[in-house]
Formats: sequence, C-alpha cells, structure tokens
Amino acid sequence: MTATTLRFRHRHLLGIEGLSREEITLLLDLSQAYVDQNRRADKKLSTLRGRTVINLFFETSTRTRTSFELAGKRLGADVINMSVQTSSIKKGETLIDTAMTLNAMRPDILVVRHPDSGAVNLLSQKLDCAVINGGDGSHEHPTQALLDALTIRRRRGGLEGLTVAICGDILHSRVARSNIHLLAIMGARVRLIGPPTLMPSCIDRLGVEVFHDMKRGLAGSDIVMMLRLQTERMQGSFVPSIREYFRFFGLDYEKLKSAKPDALIMHPGPMNRGVEIDSELADDIDRSLIREQVEMGVAVRMACLDTLARTDAGNEAGS
Ligand code: ASP
Repeated sequence: MTATTLRFRHRHLLGIEGLSREEITLLLDLSQAYVDQNRRADKKLSTLRGRTVINLFFETSTRTRTSFELAGKRLGADVINMSVQTSSIKKGETLIDTAMTLNAMRPDILVVRHPDSGAVNLLSQKLDCAVINGGDGSHEHPTQALLDALTIRRRRGGLEGLTVAICGDILHSRVARSNIHLLAIMGARVRLIGPPTLMPSCIDRLGVEVFHDMKRGLAGSDIVMMLRLQTERMQGSFVPSIREYFRFFGLDYEKLKSAKPDALIMHPGPMNRGVEIDSELADDIDRSLIREQVEMGVAVRMACLDTLARTDAGNEAGS
C-alpha cells in the first residue's frame, strides 16, 4: 500500500477535478482491498493508530459522516465528530475561527462538509493538517464520485466506454459535478438529463451531452444515476409540482425500458421515493445498486484516509 500512496501527489482531497486517471485508479484499487477487509468478522486494523481524524459537518449528513467515522475507526484512528448547525454560523469569520481552534488541537485529517461552495478549499489553506471535502455547496463531493465509480467498476469491470446518464437536479448537485469530472477522466460518456431550470448553463463545456427528455437521454445508457431535488439550495420554484416532476423526470420501470436492457440504477441518497425515483424500482435488487453504494462508501473513505495520512507524512504535498 505504501508504493500506492506515494504516487498520490496531493496533500488534500478537495475535489475530483485535478486528479489524474492514475490517482483515481490507485484510490479505487486500494478501496477494493478495503471492501474485502470490511467483509471479514474482524474489521479493525491499526494503519492509522495514533492519528486523529475530525469530522466537521456544517450541514446534515447520514451516510457520509457515519461512513467516515466507521472508516477512521476501522483503521484504528481516534475519530471526533463535530456537527455545527448552519443557522448558528456567522459565515466566514466563524468558519475560520472554528478551523483555527481545531488546528490548535493538532488533528491529522479534517473531513469537512459545508453549505458554501469553496469553503472547504478556503479552510485547507489555513490548516496544517490534510483536509477531505465531504461535500461543499453545489461544488464537489469527491468521495461520493469515488464510491460510485467503485460500485460501477465492480459490476461492469471498468468505466471506459460506458454511457452514464445523470438525471434530475444537476444545477444544485455536487454529486453530479464530481461524477462528471471522474467519468470524463476515466473515459466514460456522460449524459445529463433534467428540466432546463435545473441544468447549469454552459455545462456542455464539460464534454457532456444534455437532454431534457428522459426517454431520449436514457436510450442506450448502461448506468442511470438519479439525483435528489435539492430544495434546501433552491430559492424560489424550479419545478411546477412534485407530481409533474415525477411524471416527466422520475425514474420508473416504463422510462427505464429506454436504457440498455441490463442497465443498473444508482442514487447517492437520501432518496425521495416517488419524487425522483419509483419506490419499488429503488428496492429492486436486480436493477438497483443503491445499497451497494453505501457499502462501497466505507471502503472508499478508508482508502482516502489511509492515502492522505501517508501522503502527508511523506511530504508529497501538492494541492
Ligand atoms: N448526499 C449527497 C450530498 O450530500 C446527495 C444529496 O444530498 O442529495 O450531496
């Protein structure tokens, strides 16, 4: 594992943008080893013994926070969780103050989730420790894209040449952005499907194809990734009604028929059943990878913690 991590040339993991194909492959290969480890009865290792990981979450989270905590503990690190209610944050000043306070406690890795795009990057410039972006605004959520990639790779053997449709609220989705970067770097074709109001302008510059019709966009897709309507990031109304949204953009068995016959479906969670995805389809073990994504999340986060802990120690700092 040491040779692996020495080739990861970043001090922080702030996004997928800027990583190389080789670096992504290294993280996925290491994650794969941790999937096997996590399926053993004795899951605990001492790889990060003596290291301190702080999870600093300024936004709610179930999967990301829990899996980073489990990941750190399974590697033998001391893990502290701090949740900060968004409403009590005085933006800017409080963020830096909090960061400097934590910095003084000499953590080795800080995992940060924040509602503002760019906030995690800003923090990383003020701290001595390695920083992992646990999701910043609608910017990036790198570990989600890595766990999605690992899930697809295990089922399809690789990512190159696959057609992946990402559907729904692209505008507010950091998951979409990180996946677009990762899939492009790894040689997959990306299609974005959603209403014009939820599609960022000029997104086609990222080399994706844009569709506003589910059946046309899904045609020939290998993987269908559904996204949640991020109402907490919306000011005003972006869709006429939930019923109408489901009718045109909700994934059900009928619309899925347009994709390849063996197409698999994914969702980063939390899911809004009956809004962006039909409830029965979400639970269909022949089509849905949603539970597997959660399992892969722990392994991917172990790989990221392990890699950054070693990279930091080895003074390979890049960005
Ligand atoms: N859990 C993902 C995120 O934090 C997706 C979502 O919230 O809809 O971005």
